[in-house]
Amino acid sequence: MRMMRRLSRNFWFFIALLCPVIPIHFFFEGNWYSLLHSYSLGMVFGIISYCYFLNALIISARIPYFDRLYGHDKVIIFHGYLATAAALFAAAHLYFKRIYFPENNLQINVGIAALSLFFSVIAVTVLIMVNNPLHRLKPIAAIKTFFHRTIKLDYSGLKLFHNLTALASVLMIIHVMMASPTAENNTRLGIMGLWGIAAIGTYLYHKFIRLIVTAARSLQVTRVVSLNDSVTELHMCRTKGFKTKHKAGQFGYFRILSKMCGSEEHPFTISSPPESNELVITIKNLGDYTSKLNNIETGAKVLYDGPYGTFTPAESGAPVLFIAGGIGITPFLSILSHWNNVSNRREVTLLWSARNEEEMTHKNQLEKIAETNPNFRFIPLVTNRDHTILQRQLLDSNFLSHSLPVPEKCRVYICGPELMRLSAEKALKSIGVKRAHINFEKFSF
Ligand SMILES: Cc1cc2nc3c(=O)[nH]c(=O)nc-3n(C[C@H](O)[C@H](O)[C@H](O)COP(=O)(O)OP(=O)(O)OC[C@H]3O[C@@H](n4cnc5c(N)ncnc54)[C@H](O)[C@@H]3O)c2cc1C
Repeated sequence: MRMMRRLSRNFWFFIALLCPVIPIHFFFEGNWYSLLHSYSLGMVFGIISYCYFLNALIISARIPYFDRLYGHDKVIIFHGYLATAAALFAAAHLYFKRIYFPENNLQINVGIAALSLFFSVIAVTVLIMVNNPLHRLKPIAAIKTFFHRTIKLDYSGLKLFHNLTALASVLMIIHVMMASPTAENNTRLGIMGLWGIAAIGTYLYHKFIRLIVTAARSLQVTRVVSLNDSVTELHMCRTKGFKTKHKAGQFGYFRILSKMCGSEEHPFTISSPPESNELVITIKNLGDYTSKLNNIETGAKVLYDGPYGTFTPAESGAPVLFIAGGIGITPFLSILSHWNNVSNRREVTLLWSARNEEEMTHKNQLEKIAETNPNFRFIPLVTNRDHTILQRQLLDSNFLSHSLPVPEKCRVYICGPELMRLSAEKALKSIGVKRAHINFEKFSF
């Protein structure tokens, strides 16, 4: 089973990268000797760019099969790398083509418009939208802060801008269809056209058809519980009696339709167990949107797209260590409640680090599970002082090997702030836990 999974992963990875070979074959069949000529190179780069951009559009459409195979976050990250590679190939395509076609015409202008759009979207995504190591550089951090604070460009505005990639893809498809090497041959027209239709079709399904389906099976808020100043729990049930199906530890995309929240879509982990009649999300107030949620009225309609994610430990096997930082407790709430409900006795240690007692919103619930299950050990870590520094100190190799101690063969699941994850990962590796046995869930893509 694991072998099959690995094979499937490699198979689709290489398909995504090597698929341009198919159109290249039909463009150069019988003419392979010309392949390295700069004119042909321009064409090859253009074909690769076309395939990569369209593949990036396809795989970003939350296809459940890829989500299960790789994990949602990895698919999103891969789509980013693929789009960046596509943009570089497109730039090389433009460079070589300009040698032979310096004049502008409609077909060239459409291509340039598509490329400009792609570059703008990629620049905005990397510089402002998606958290990445570049943001540690001061000038880039300053640009990000300027757009967020001064221009007040929030994530939903950026997401809307990101959708211009669909328009850019349509322009790119028109550019390729109008190009004489494509237009003069029906097989080439067919391949490039079908590829384009598949990508735009997948995008339209993702953006519109899926929305209609989720609207038909919407949820309704039944209870809003303020757990403390900054954490709110929303309880929901299906309006038409549909049961929601999820594995403990998974998340979904939620649109809470209300005057206050509009119709923005945000990802949240489902903190209730799968067998529960209601679906619960536990939300920390971290920004504009999440700060409004404790004022949501009961009865509000919620569109739910999910479940997604592979942060779902098996119910049996080697001992597991769960490490949660702050609101990163949510997947573990679902997993531990579920295991408790089905009397699963896999050996578990939960280490939950929070700033203070107030933040330990579910401490009683977890302590109750620990009282009845001798295989479950709950270690709350209340740091009180500077959160990050203390977490780094606590989660060092000394703590993990002596105070806990962590068995070398255990499986580890981490959900919490990035710095905590990195230091825990480093400490775990230093005491001999294999990288392959460390799983983590990020609360940002
Ligand atoms: C897989 C996953 C599971 C999550 N589970 C939980 C949970 O159980 N509880 C919880 O409190 N939080 C969870 N989050 C985080 C939650 O989605 C963000 O805190 C929330 O969207 C922030 O929105 P905001 O407008 O209030 O804050 P902002 O200040 O606007 O955003 C803060 C950060 O949240 C991310 N973000 C904002 N809007 C979106 C969006 N529409 N889509 C994707 N990312 C966005 C961005 O990285 C942004 O930098 C989860 C996130 C992910 C990716």
